[in-house]
Amino acid sequence: MKLQILECKKCKTFTLEKECSSCNSKTENPKPAKYSETDKLSKYRNLARKNS
Ligand SMILES: [Zn+2]
Repeated sequence: MKLQILECKKCKTFTLEKECSSCNSKTENPKPAKYSETDKLSKYRNLARKNS
């Protein structure tokens, strides 16, 4: 089982729970999927540059 760090947008705190323990609102993944995808793409771009 993988532990996922989640963020309560209301309290701006990080937790491993799916619900915030202080305000009971749903927590969210602090890093949107898009972010890591562009990160990967820039890595590939750098590799391509090195190879050419
Ligand atoms: Zn909260």
